[in-house]
Formats: sequence, structure tokens, C-alpha cells
Amino acid sequence: MTTATSLEKLARALAPSDLTARPVYIVLTSDSPPEELTLRDSLGSFHPTYDENFKNWLQSQGRWAGRGPCIVLNDEAINAIWPRDTEEMVSDICIHELAHVLTSRNNFDELSLAESAAIELAAIYSIGRANAAFAANRDSRAPSRRGHGAEFVRVVCHLIDRCRQFGIWSQPTAVFDLTQFGFRPTDEYFRAVSGEFGSFRNAPLRDLIDHTPPTAFTDLWRADVRRHG
Ligand SMILES: [Zn+2]
Repeated sequence: MTTATSLEKLARALAPSDLTARPVYIVLTSDSPPEELTLRDSLGSFHPTYDENFKNWLQSQGRWAGRGPCIVLNDEAINAIWPRDTEEMVSDICIHELAHVLTSRNNFDELSLAESAAIELAAIYSIGRANAAFAANRDSRAPSRRGHGAEFVRVVCHLIDRCRQFGIWSQPTAVFDLTQFGFRPTDEYFRAVSGEFGSFRNAPLRDLIDHTPPTAFTDLWRADVRRHG
């Protein structure tokens, strides 16, 4: 069964050197966090202030261990949409939100609440394809390109590669579906960066971002942005 603890372990295992200094919090709606703090129209979300927002509740659960990235997953809604694949989808959406954590400019070592409050509410990210399916039922928000740039896609691909090293067969399209924006399928991007997986498996993803991506990946992205950007 998927629990907040098992997902926190997964996040830490996927990005051990990026997440050393801080705790990681996964808030599942099925664990009954305060209703008013939970985005019910989103299947998964991350915002740099979530840890502060959920601090009292996390403390009441005996889970608070100081500031650190916090992801909210609406596992109840995921279960309603994908009753047979709930576990896989919760994990895939968790990986999606983790990619937002890892591409966020906040390092949580220096983050103060005042600084993070300056970040627009629009920075609340949510999953694309999953949200589109959800939105169709709820007349809710449409998926947004915001926060889903080339850097994000590349980190998603690396997280999926790392999952596969643990025997978790995540599908690139399930974690983030680029075809919703008219782009080439995420699998093509996955193949285009696969040559660099081996050299970065043990490196912080922050280091990866500082390295130029493979030309095949950049060419793919530029062509898609030219056609649909
Ligand atoms: Zn997203």
C-alpha cells in the first residue's frame, strides 16, 4: 500500500544528494490534512511554503522535522479516476511533483517564509495529463506549460531512469505528457537524454542542470517550441 512514508522514502532514494539537508514531506489527502489547505481541484501540487502551511498538522502527526519541501497528493481523487492503477499513478504524480521540487530555485537552506511568500500563487504546479482528465470531470483548470520547460522534462527523464534502477517501471508519458501541448511524446525525450543517464545517476540533479543537455534533446525541444510554443 502506498503511504506518505513510502513515498517520502522513494523521493529521498531518487534524489539522495539533492535532498540531504532537509526532510521531505508527502501529504496525502487520505490522511485527512486540513481541508482548507488542500487543493481539491489538483491531483498533485508543490509550493515552497507548503511545509509551513501544513506545519501544525505535521506536528500533530509527529512528523515535523523542520523546514523542507512538501508535496500534496490527492490520492483519493487519483483512486476515483484510476481505481486499478492507483498505486502507480500516485507514484508517477509524486515523481512529477518531485521534479518541480528539484527544479525549484528554492534550496530550503536559506528560504524564509517572507521570501517564499513572494512567489506567486501561480507557482502551484499540477500534473498535466492527469489534471486534464480530472478537469474534464470537474470543469477545473487546464494544464499549463508554466514550470514545465526543458529543464523540468530532463529532470523527469532522469528520475524515471532512477526509478527503473529500483525496479519501478514508471512511464515517461504518465509522469508528464508533452503531447497535451502538441509536443512530441515524452518517450522521445526520454530516449534523447538516455545517453547521459549513466554519468549522472549518482550526481545531484542540480549538477545535471548545470551541464548542457545532449544535442538530440535540445533539437527536439527547439523543434517542438518552434511548432507549438
Ligand atoms: Zn507540473
